[in-house]
Amino acid sequence: MRVVVVGGGTAGWMTAAALARLLPTRCSVRLVESEAIGVVGVGEATLPHIRAFNERLGIAEAEFMARTRATFKLGIEFRDWGRIGDSYIHPFGTFGRGTGAIDFHHYWVRLIARGAAMPPLDALSYACTLARQGRFHHPDPDRRRLAGTFGYAYQFDALLFAPYLRELAEAMGAVRTEGTVAAVERDGARGDIAAVVLQSGERIEGDLFVDCSGFRSLLLGGALAEPFEDWSHWLPTDRAVAMPCRTRTALTPYTSAIAMPAGWRWRIPLQHRTGNGYVYASAFTSDAEAQATLEAVVEGAPIADPRLLRFRAGRRRRSWVGNCVAIGLASGFLEPLESTSIYLVQQAITALVELFPEPVIGAADRDEFNRVIDLEYDRIRDFLILHYHATTRTDTPFWHYVRTMPIPDSLAEKLELWRRRARLVKHREGVFLDASWVAVYLGQGIVPDGWDPRADIVAPDDLRHGVEALRDEIAADVAGRPDHRTFIDRFCPMVDAA
Ligand code: FAD
Repeated sequence: MRVVVVGGGTAGWMTAAALARLLPTRCSVRLVESEAIGVVGVGEATLPHIRAFNERLGIAEAEFMARTRATFKLGIEFRDWGRIGDSYIHPFGTFGRGTGAIDFHHYWVRLIARGAAMPPLDALSYACTLARQGRFHHPDPDRRRLAGTFGYAYQFDALLFAPYLRELAEAMGAVRTEGTVAAVERDGARGDIAAVVLQSGERIEGDLFVDCSGFRSLLLGGALAEPFEDWSHWLPTDRAVAMPCRTRTALTPYTSAIAMPAGWRWRIPLQHRTGNGYVYASAFTSDAEAQATLEAVVEGAPIADPRLLRFRAGRRRRSWVGNCVAIGLASGFLEPLESTSIYLVQQAITALVELFPEPVIGAADRDEFNRVIDLEYDRIRDFLILHYHATTRTDTPFWHYVRTMPIPDSLAEKLELWRRRARLVKHREGVFLDASWVAVYLGQGIVPDGWDPRADIVAPDDLRHGVEALRDEIAADVAGRPDHRTFIDRFCPMVDAA
């Protein structure tokens, strides 16, 4: 099957590399990209799933990190979200030992409800403690050990990742064409895409077209006119101003998301610089004001001019229509608060590989792909909305709006279960697992009224001593671990430090 990928950003080259590597006997891969148009050039924080993607592609971690000037990420620190002055970490790991018959948070909630003076929840997570202390090591393969109760992701230079994948993809047989797509030809009878035509006049035919053209959504949104489902009433941020700067502080092994008057700002530490950006709602602040607000708080000297990005929360109604599959920003976008876009790219690629339509495209494969992707978007959407809705802030019109806005029924049901008995809705599919929801619920001050009744079996004093012993055991283990910068300098120092 002839696969044509339109777009050479992170989504395009991830797709080309994966297809070339995993389906070498099933398809040929041709990628068209336009240097004149360029890439979105942001997208530096990831989720732990990316490690599985890299492994499947045979990517060696240290080399990949050195080439993309990457750092390790143990989670996301949220500052000023529930209330000004709050700080919590959403860790890539469990709370407690992660091995009990019932989830650890039930015990913690029970003790809190009884008025016990408890260690903060962060201190009862190995990942949070490691992050707070600015240390890193690879997880112990034995998950029964505290040092094995976490995962990690990467923070990398967005402009270096796609070129790195391009090298791999081309080495595995993907063919790149430089050029701008000027027209899309449809097949008269079925309405499928028959070819894309470049400004040069070159015509590229294919059997399957992967739209990785970014926000333009050239094929799916443009040629096939698939409608966009707008979710901006729930996720009103629609712009970002990005401005990298020199790093002035220690190299934190986590991303920070710091609440701002009309949104929030990211802080992503890389080996050579710190990425910053203010994600804001244009209905609540102006571009000039957002830029000035960001400039006033970045920690070191800016190393590039501020860059404005515009977007809209939502997704195309279907990501796969006819013989066109959209992956990446061409299929939709949910703001970067939980670093989910590259994850969504990865999930779409995985589903495409698993359902690869050979020899002919089947409606059942297409429907299954769309079901999986819709579900991912819906789950992430609810998780993002929770961060905004679960605030007590009233200090700006933006925070007042998000605190009081109507929320999707699916999220309202989850919240009700949590509030009543600290219960988490379990899913077989979808990205954020229990500890993620617990971190955000409790981190933003939604303490439930009840808990799993089995948590009452342990006597309160025994429970409290157990929790304190756990905190001390975590702290003692973490204290002996290497500093993040030291670990990186040894393991994967960046290449080409110019
Ligand atoms: P792009 O990078 O825009 O690539 C589109 C490609 O299509 C380019 O090569 C372009 O040249 C090509 N193209 C377009 N039109 C044509 C044409 N007519 N002819 C030929 N080629 C064409 N994601 C994360 O996972 N973590 C983050 O921390 C994160 N932060 C973000 C912050 C912001 C403010 C934004 C807006 C996004 C963020 N993302 C993040 C999302 C992430 O940047 C994208 O998911 C990722 O970069 C993939 O983009 P893409 O490849 O779909 O699009």
